[in-house]
Amino acid sequence: MKSIYKVSFLCAAVALFAACGPKGADDKNTNTAGEDTSIDAKINQLVTVQLTADLKGLSENDRKMLPFMFQVADIMDELFWEESLGGKNAFLDTIKDEKIRRYAMINYGPWERLNDDKPFVKGVGKKPEGANFYPKDMTKEEFEKWTSPNKKGLYSMVRRDDGGFLKTVPYHEYFKEKIDRAAALIDSAAKYADDAGLKKYLALRAQALRTDDYQASDFAWLDMKNNTIDFVVGPIESYEDKLFGYRTSHEAYILIKDKIWSEKLAKYAAMLPELQQGLPVDAKYKAEKAGSDSDLGAYDVVYYAGDCNAGSKTIAVNLPNDENVQLKKGTRRLQLKNAMRAKFDKIMMPIADELIDPSQRANVTFDAFFSTVMFHEVAHGLGIKNTINGKGMVREALKDEASALEEGKADILGLYMITKLYEKGEFTKKDLDDCYITFMAGIFRSVRFGAASAHGKANMLRFNYFADKGAFTRTPEGKYKVDLAKMKDAMTSLSALILKLQGDGDYDGVKKLMAEKGKILPQLQGDLDRLKAKKIPVDIIFDQGRKVLGL
Ligand SMILES: [Zn+2]
Repeated sequence: MKSIYKVSFLCAAVALFAACGPKGADDKNTNTAGEDTSIDAKINQLVTVQLTADLKGLSENDRKMLPFMFQVADIMDELFWEESLGGKNAFLDTIKDEKIRRYAMINYGPWERLNDDKPFVKGVGKKPEGANFYPKDMTKEEFEKWTSPNKKGLYSMVRRDDGGFLKTVPYHEYFKEKIDRAAALIDSAAKYADDAGLKKYLALRAQALRTDDYQASDFAWLDMKNNTIDFVVGPIESYEDKLFGYRTSHEAYILIKDKIWSEKLAKYAAMLPELQQGLPVDAKYKAEKAGSDSDLGAYDVVYYAGDCNAGSKTIAVNLPNDENVQLKKGTRRLQLKNAMRAKFDKIMMPIADELIDPSQRANVTFDAFFSTVMFHEVAHGLGIKNTINGKGMVREALKDEASALEEGKADILGLYMITKLYEKGEFTKKDLDDCYITFMAGIFRSVRFGAASAHGKANMLRFNYFADKGAFTRTPEGKYKVDLAKMKDAMTSLSALILKLQGDGDYDGVKKLMAEKGKILPQLQGDLDRLKAKKIPVDIIFDQGRKVLGL
């Protein structure tokens, strides 16, 4: 299972901000829909934000450690260029137009990542599905006939030997000079690590890069608890290998922990058993023990490099991907707060301006948004994983509908948790109202480009259910206004409905509900169409690095 929410629609935060490109890019400057597809327009759809963070909590040593990490990240960026395209500088030298070159830098090549990899440089043709991981002249058939035991390797390039036969070359050999340099820099960073867990992880990670055996460093990463700085680095995700999905690409995130939020989360996660007891559903649907197999934390990210900086920007990381490690120790989930805030400010706010009634506009806030996203994550631990009638796991019984309903459950139970915490005095009434109204605004953003995905359907189910229950009204001007009391009732009954469908493993029931309610009706579509004219950014890109941080 892929864990960084870049391509999959596993989680709310991401589904809300998932990669959805503008339509149409061809030789002309307008497409059939009349949209402007010039390079200027393409660049203008991406808004630049500065990646900053509060550095007050950093020690002297932390400040000495970061520059090494920036250098390593830049090497990961170079490696990603090699894996994706190869010959970065030679390629960029062929582009004379300044703007096209800039767009190529953003896209790590001549294909638009947020527009189905359509080429924007003349004569380059289609993007190879296997990127630069495989020989350009290799066919799928040739690969399938190949008998090498290493051919599905996560950490190797496929090349031809002198006889023209396929061979694998491990990353640490293929990229030897760069990898050795990166590993040495990580060792240098480790010298300044005050936290023993981070020190151990960095040393093991440097060694992992030199050997392409990552497991020991993955375990060490999961054991880190008190580090302020985190460094996700190495070949991790396999999205770039669209041919087979085997080969991973290098990337790096440099992260600074948000200790206040991380502590709050630990506190709320500890309340799960009590909240499970209070779920608005028959006892048999909440008989399992609540809990989560992932350790959740909030971070500010100060650098994205390589794979994670290409295309749609990740705002949540759930790692490691190694299933053997996951089985033994679970995962760690990092929510990237400042990147989320940037998307909130640049994308969510203009949407709320257009669609939320002016009387409730001030209730759409980042704090509320971040709360709903974080509680979504915690709420996955509520409810039950097994059906109550012998149909086995909920996930298996609900088949292709399972993930949409599970995400829908986490969304609505996240709101349930916030409501309960308000009742316990943890939240003010203003906090609660903000969360309800921001939650509503979030639905518009998540279905802005359509509701074809599983998560889009779950969002529409909720929207249409709320509409039926009078949880909001639509003004003649096409603005939406939440009725807080009715929304609370709708939240409660929808929670019960979803928990029951899951517990019963009622596949036909879910299928029917999604078919009826999981779609965008014409009136809403008309309102969403108004957003198109507002030129709301498609995604964000970063101004980042030591200078931006003031280091
Ligand atoms: Zn989720």
